[in-house]
Amino acid sequence: MAKGVLVDITKCIGCKACQVACKQWNDLPAKIPEFVDGLTGPPDMDGDTYTVVKFKVAEMAGDYKIRSAKKQCMHCLHPACASACFAKALEKDAKTGAVIYHPHLCVGCRYCMLACPFDVPKYQWEKTFPLISKCQFCFDPEDKYDRLSYGKPPACVDTCITGALVYGERDELLKEAWNRINSDPSYIKKVLGEKEAGGTSWLYISDVPFEEFGFRPNLGTKPLPEYSHDFLKYTPIIALGWGTLLTVLYHYTKRREQIASEKKDVHL
Ligand code: SF4
Ligand code: SF4
Repeated sequence: MAKGVLVDITKCIGCKACQVACKQWNDLPAKIPEFVDGLTGPPDMDGDTYTVVKFKVAEMAGDYKIRSAKKQCMHCLHPACASACFAKALEKDAKTGAVIYHPHLCVGCRYCMLACPFDVPKYQWEKTFPLISKCQFCFDPEDKYDRLSYGKPPACVDTCITGALVYGERDELLKEAWNRINSDPSYIKKVLGEKEAGGTSWLYISDVPFEEFGFRPNLGTKPLPEYSHDFLKYTPIIALGWGTLLTVLYHYTKRREQIASEKKDVHL
């Protein structure tokens, strides 16, 4: 039976311990924080950040409350990223539910970034030999960063002291999610991930709309690979061209920013 994590947004206090634990466990470099709203930093997942806690000031019953939600790969039951990857660098592990990335198979086309309905995979733009970057659910067939095979929860869940993150069998977590929703009217009557894009291993419940944290509304319940697979699997050459175009555009934009900044320095 595949595993999952229940994220209860009402229990998250925004301490970011999960974000730090993820960096530490996966040996990801820290960066000087850049905040978008005084609280969310970095603004989103990036090449060195598998998970990020997003904040929202929500108006509730005439009062204002700060809500926070940890975001990462949703580990879809039918991952569009894996379906889009003709190089087979992304793969769903049936036992754990983890969607894992094999860097040695990746050709850098970045189709997975286009295919993902949750905007998860990021590219290591700054690196000489960039790779795709995303949460592996602390499952690692290479055994370096593995926790799930040893019966341990992901590092983020292990570090969360408020119960905002619960690891377990997906079926059991779904029951728990609906128990909480049905016993407390302040919850929105929906488990995000139960059916979206065919269902995900990570499930969310909340008392503020999920869109507030950047989740797309109306994702639909049909597994996205059904839309993308037939088209994408026959297009490796287009994919490689697309990857090259993205890289050229990135370096062009960077160079323009650099020239603009140099001009600014001269005027100062
Ligand atoms: S560790 Fe738990 S409470 Fe702290 S930010 Fe992460 S999910 Fe929220
Ligand atoms: S959330 Fe995106 S990257 Fe994660 S498994 Fe689903 S499609 Fe793949």
